[in-house]
Amino acid sequence: MSGLSGFALGVEGERAGWLYDVFVSQREDPKSVPGMLALAVEQGARQLVTYEHPFFELFFSHFGFRTRTRVSMAQLRNPPREWTADIETQGGRGPDYLCMVKTSDGPATVSALASDTGNFAARPGMSISDASCVHCSAPVPRLRWPRILDAYQCQRCGFLAIAGELAVAQWSRPKNSMDSDGNDRDLGAPGTSFACGSDLLR
Ligand SMILES: [Zn+2]
Repeated sequence: MSGLSGFALGVEGERAGWLYDVFVSQREDPKSVPGMLALAVEQGARQLVTYEHPFFELFFSHFGFRTRTRVSMAQLRNPPREWTADIETQGGRGPDYLCMVKTSDGPATVSALASDTGNFAARPGMSISDASCVHCSAPVPRLRWPRILDAYQCQRCGFLAIAGELAVAQWSRPKNSMDSDGNDRDLGAPGTSFACGSDLLR
């Protein structure tokens, strides 16, 4: 790896097994990215939150992760700044989030929870350019979502090249989840709003 890419892994308590801050530089050799994820899994990565896009879901599914929950930004109560900053710079019209859990080593797949699998370029804020596959040199359409995703999948050899913010930052349970009247600050019905990363596993 170049040193410009990396990940963080939670090891204790509520954070145990969470894979955070998976970042891959655009200058990274795409062939070295799967090795980074394999290392994270070997060290105990069990769940993560990524942005909703078929490329993200497909990438993590190669390592046995499957989508557990899909949520929109509006369902998150006080999410970390890191989760939303890059979306807000694009006018607040961002992707949903997928919580993925390592369940199996079956064939890689994109679930029905990820949308628009046949028309990637239709996403707001995304651009597309011509590139060539780093593996077999076939021409490929390269998708860019500024600061979030830079990826292509080769139709000839199947290679998935992916860079960007592959998994978001840590989101711990608030230390004081009671409001000033002593009521649990639960504003939504169960399953409709989320106050920490662990809530996404419910
Ligand atoms: Zn190829």
